[in-house]
Amino acid sequence: MCQPVVVTKLSGEMDKPLISRRLVDSDSSLAEVPSEAPKVGILGSGDFARSLATRLVGSGLSVVVGSRHPKRMVGLFPSAAKVTFQAEAVGSPEVIFVAVFREHYSSLCSLSDQLAGKILVDVSNPTEQEHLQHRESNAEYLASLFPTCAVVKAFNVISAWTLQAGPRDGNRQVPICSDLPEAKRTVSELAHAMGFTPVDMGSLASAREIEAMPLRLLPGWKVPTILALGLFIFFYTYNFIRDVLQPYVQENRNEFYKLPLSVVNTTLPCVAYVLLSLVYLPGVLAAALQLWRGTKYRRFPDWLDHWLQHRKQIGLLSFFCAALHAVYSVCLPVRISYRYNLVNLAVKQVLTNKSHLWVEENVWRMEIYLSLGVLALGVLSLLAVTSLPSIANSLNWREFNFVQSTLGFVALVLSTLHTLTYGWTRAFEESRYKFYLPPTFTLTLLVPCVVILVKGLFLLPCLRHRLSKIRRGWEKDSAVKFTLPMDHALAQKTSHV
Ligand code: NAP
Repeated sequence: MCQPVVVTKLSGEMDKPLISRRLVDSDSSLAEVPSEAPKVGILGSGDFARSLATRLVGSGLSVVVGSRHPKRMVGLFPSAAKVTFQAEAVGSPEVIFVAVFREHYSSLCSLSDQLAGKILVDVSNPTEQEHLQHRESNAEYLASLFPTCAVVKAFNVISAWTLQAGPRDGNRQVPICSDLPEAKRTVSELAHAMGFTPVDMGSLASAREIEAMPLRLLPGWKVPTILALGLFIFFYTYNFIRDVLQPYVQENRNEFYKLPLSVVNTTLPCVAYVLLSLVYLPGVLAAALQLWRGTKYRRFPDWLDHWLQHRKQIGLLSFFCAALHAVYSVCLPVRISYRYNLVNLAVKQVLTNKSHLWVEENVWRMEIYLSLGVLALGVLSLLAVTSLPSIANSLNWREFNFVQSTLGFVALVLSTLHTLTYGWTRAFEESRYKFYLPPTFTLTLLVPCVVILVKGLFLLPCLRHRLSKIRRGWEKDSAVKFTLPMDHALAQKTSHV
């Protein structure tokens, strides 16, 4: 604590509405701000302070910056902002942004008297280590140093770049929290005036949660990405052994040129296909568990719960691999190795006196599997597009469920047909078993076929009916009568709900 005065009332200056006039001249430079515009102070003259000052001036506010070295910094700020010493800067504004790092908060204690009764906006972000080290958030620490001030946590999730570029180019939401509702309202209006969307996060106790937000790095993606990488490494190694190592060891053929493109292209569809089946496998397991337990009111094991929650990310990674596979496949005929092989084949044909090379079965097989592949990718693209929040928000639950569940399953069936027509009879040809390893496509078929099969089983009336009863609250070994509505009327059974 810097000094023991208790805050009584925030100044009446802040009762005035904060105007949101943009003061940008036609030549895009910032014009002079009228002297009567609400004044906002900034402590610190670093990157964040500069971007903040630019945005505040652009939003029609009068800005005064407090620096330890104002002369050195003045040239870096918009001309409409006043850059002065810290003590002078905090004199008149009622809202002061503290754009300094936590470790330097205590150096501001000499300003305690001037800051008494003002709103201090804590914009700081801790590092991951600091966040773990301190149980108290930066904002709470600031509040403990300045008990006479109303501390508000805000703007920490907005980068200096977004502030400078404007809210159209980046995150718009500004989570705000404070123990003083009036101070929170004032900072929310300020955020509005700057073009951002304030999000009320409650009391200052939420500051730790707000400070943790910028520390997150794609939280839902870690496990799905590791899973996709694991599958990629497995299938790449498997394909390498079959397509490159085996010809080298057993036939003395050097096919290492296949490593960057050809092997990658045979690996990607395997990963995409297995990942897609892993989107639907947890649903099948959950349904099986519910059927076995005869209730939906018992929690799933944690691993299944997590798996169910990561389905969207796994599905998007599947789409990503499938899209890459499509692009790689289009590139195949462009390769010089492909042209050499084609010419060699033509020469061989001439030498063996074969004039017309046309195998009807192969032609049909390829036409069909390419078409099925394109269709599967098309349906997968629909799934990917509808998982974007803006699109998902425009769909009702039934529409969303139809696309993600029904169309998703259609994509899985199409991919299975694509794989089967690609493989054709190869699984039964002895020459296809390299080092006794079966063709890769046979491995990829395992999980998807199980998923499709079990899903098919769940369509049997006895299982479907029992499952829909369970999902409506019916429980095994119960004493209460449970009747399904109309179309399930036949399903009247004894239960206790
Ligand atoms: P910075 O460029 O290093 O600026 C920090 C400023 O703190 C310095 O320019 C300095 O200004 C001032 N300061 C005051 N007392 C100080 C002292 N005792 N020792 C050293 N410096 C002192 O950092 P920044 O990037 O602007 O970040 C400032 C705050 O904003 C941090 O808390 C950061 O977490 C937060 N933030 C930054 C961003 C971003 O994108 N940069 C985004 C969100 C939040 P004077 O020398 O003029 O006094």
